[in-house]
Amino acid sequence: MTFVFTPPAAAAVPVQGGAATALFPVHRIYCVGRNYALHAIEMGHSGREAPFFFMKPADAVLPVAEGTVGQMHYPSLSKSLHHELELVVAIGKGGRDIPAAQALEHVWGYAVGLDMTRRDLQGEAKKLGRPWCIGKGFDESAPIGPIKRAEECRLDADTKISLLVNGQPRQASSLGKLIWSVPEIIEHLSKAWELAPGDLIFSGTPEGVAAVEVGDTLSARVDGVGTLELKIVAR
Ligand code: MN
Repeated sequence: MTFVFTPPAAAAVPVQGGAATALFPVHRIYCVGRNYALHAIEMGHSGREAPFFFMKPADAVLPVAEGTVGQMHYPSLSKSLHHELELVVAIGKGGRDIPAAQALEHVWGYAVGLDMTRRDLQGEAKKLGRPWCIGKGFDESAPIGPIKRAEECRLDADTKISLLVNGQPRQASSLGKLIWSVPEIIEHLSKAWELAPGDLIFSGTPEGVAAVEVGDTLSARVDGVGTLELKIVAR
């Protein structure tokens, strides 16, 4: 049997500090909704609910190499492109029904990511009870920095997560403010889907989400993990 046309290259993200050719192949991209209380409140919710998930296509990743500035094209159809700064968890060992106590054994590494959102289209979908795909799962909607091996990351409740836009602070929080911690996210997620090596989990954004325009430069950072520099360019 042969493919009827050449299959597309697998979506992949460079590994931080690895050999120049080391790539983490992406299987699926899961995202956690409303996982910081103050962001839930700014979106009109109470700040305490069971975790819920949505997905982006694997090839929505926009990998940005260390020390470079990535370019994201302003997407079609939208007049409100929002940034959501997030810690990304990269799964190295799959499984289902993974208890929180064992969840970190399944983590290969971490990265800084931006869950870019066509907020106007997401808002319309919410109002009409329609899926979020068009607001969340569009091309280049998942800019991500290099993935750093878990054993080289020092993450705790005080770890700072921050985003500057054109040098001005936009989002700042710490990982201790996650409503559902990384192990709890993996426990919940692996009840709904069988996790596989290559899965990425965008863990949710803190408060301060806002619009960006063509020409804006975003500088996202998770202490102990790395940074992600991104410029918004015209289509
Ligand atoms: Mn998000």
